[in-house]
Amino acid sequence: MNGHENPVAAARRSLEAVGRRIRLACEEAGRPVDAVSLLAVGKTFPAERVLALAAAGQRDFGENYLQEALEKQDRCATLASDTRLAWHFIGPIQSNKTRAIAERFDWVHSVDRARIARRLSEQRPEAAEPLSICLQVNIDDEDSKSGCAPQELPALAAAVAAMPRLRLRGLMAIPAPRSDATGQRRAFAAVRELYEQLRAGGFALDTLSMGMSADLEAAVAEGATIVRIGTALFGDRPPKPD
Ligand SMILES: *Cc1c(COP(=O)(O)O)cnc(C)c1O
Repeated sequence: MNGHENPVAAARRSLEAVGRRIRLACEEAGRPVDAVSLLAVGKTFPAERVLALAAAGQRDFGENYLQEALEKQDRCATLASDTRLAWHFIGPIQSNKTRAIAERFDWVHSVDRARIARRLSEQRPEAAEPLSICLQVNIDDEDSKSGCAPQELPALAAAVAAMPRLRLRGLMAIPAPRSDATGQRRAFAAVRELYEQLRAGGFALDTLSMGMSADLEAAVAEGATIVRIGTALFGDRPPKPD
């Protein structure tokens, strides 16, 4: 980014670039452009960057770390009501964080066990819409990653669908990084298959949350309806401080 550029102009430019990638991927896949929505993942970036993207028209924002997210939400609360933002929690969830997530987010993409879902449902305020939920599935069976095992999905989906303050929307996955498009597509196709099995089993799902900066084209080709994009919108993140 040019350091002298107006932040809103810079945000508009990066949104256009990512929007172009999504549009081309949709055209390539024979899908309508509005079948895929863009979730801007702002972890590690300050509220000013979120505000600039909001001024450029972006409405859906994803965050991984609760405390950081709440501070950003407070900073963004000054926006006019016609630019109301939708907040998506996409990071690992500890049970002592569920209340704030249930109160302050519109979506949670990273539900991988019934215990957490039950707390979110119990803690979702009555006055709010039901919380939209994606189940995170561990598609590569890596020990280090969060997400439930594919064979656990039907039972978890049934449990979540029965919870009164939650609305089960679909699946989320973070496949292992791969540099080849064929391997990327194979992993996303496996997620789509699980999604289609659940739909065939009677769950009214409408969301496949998959694809990030490096692999959004493969995800769109395999049916993603939400792509979660950080780096391609915000730039490189500083290394993780852990
Ligand atoms: C960081 C993150 C993203 C965005 O990743 P990029 O490669 O920067 O686009 C998407 N989803 C989740 C769950 C993330 O943690």
